[in-house]
Amino acid sequence: MFSFDNVIGNRENILNMEMSLKNKKVFHSYIVTGEEGIGKLFITNCFIKKLQCETNDACGNCYSCRSFELGNNPDVIYVKPTKANNLSVDDIREQVKLNSSIKPYTCRYKIFVLENADKMTVAAQNALLKILEEPPNFLIFFLLGENIKNFLPTIISRCAIINMKPVPIPEVKKFLTQNEISEDLAQICSVYSQGNIGRALKLASDEKFIVMREKIIEIINSLANCNVANALLFVNEFENFKDDLKTVFDIIYFWYTDLIFFKSTNNASFICSTDKLELITKNNDKKLYSKINAIEKAKKYLSRNTNFKLTFSSLLLVLSEV
Ligand SMILES: [Zn+2]
Repeated sequence: MFSFDNVIGNRENILNMEMSLKNKKVFHSYIVTGEEGIGKLFITNCFIKKLQCETNDACGNCYSCRSFELGNNPDVIYVKPTKANNLSVDDIREQVKLNSSIKPYTCRYKIFVLENADKMTVAAQNALLKILEEPPNFLIFFLLGENIKNFLPTIISRCAIINMKPVPIPEVKKFLTQNEISEDLAQICSVYSQGNIGRALKLASDEKFIVMREKIIEIINSLANCNVANALLFVNEFENFKDDLKTVFDIIYFWYTDLIFFKSTNNASFICSTDKLELITKNNDKKLYSKINAIEKAKKYLSRNTNFKLTFSSLLLVLSEV
């Protein structure tokens, strides 16, 4: 399971890891960064399997490979927050410091993986820094986090950086269809994910997303035949989805970009919502560009916490223009 062959995209990162293994130039600490769902933990696990494998090849047969795949390799420690949501000074002292001087039991290295390490307090980072400053030869740290700027410069300077990037949308789609997700759903989720495999997988199995998308497309598609008063009534419907505004805006945004693509190319291969092709081809909206602008503006306003009802009311008024 944990094989570089199963990592989508990010070839440069894989090449760097392979080279460091080949040249025996493994760092003591790595920062693995990139947005949520991008595969930070997966690529880390693939690298760890190779590092710990008796043949350095993730053979799958040696004790290290087998115990690692089963999740009970004694020399790979996933440091977890015990009290608060994020790793604290106590977590670093109790789970890392105490263990870090003990040699690996069976493997070449003793490896610590810290997820959401970018959310550690300065005190926790300083406690970790003390260990990173003079690590015994057998220690390797993987610090995973979305925002590299949150790490202390003194930590960053001691780490090799692995920056995980989104992958091309057709590759996400291919991955989804190989995992028995239908063509239409794979097309929608790969576009919405913007190259983020984790997000695409999550959307594809999220019943709430599927229902929400149907509802929102139904509403915005009926807006053209609405008078102002009726259009405004839909604000309440959108309020039900208030907790997932990013997805709400994605649904609205990709609907209108589909309409624009189809109108300007007459070619369905550029369409995200292939399941709604009939609605898209029938649409004769003439104000698509001003609608896209209004969507972007509303998204920006709401990210600044402006009033939801007010912002959505004015957005719906623009979307109902014919
Ligand atoms: Zn092995």
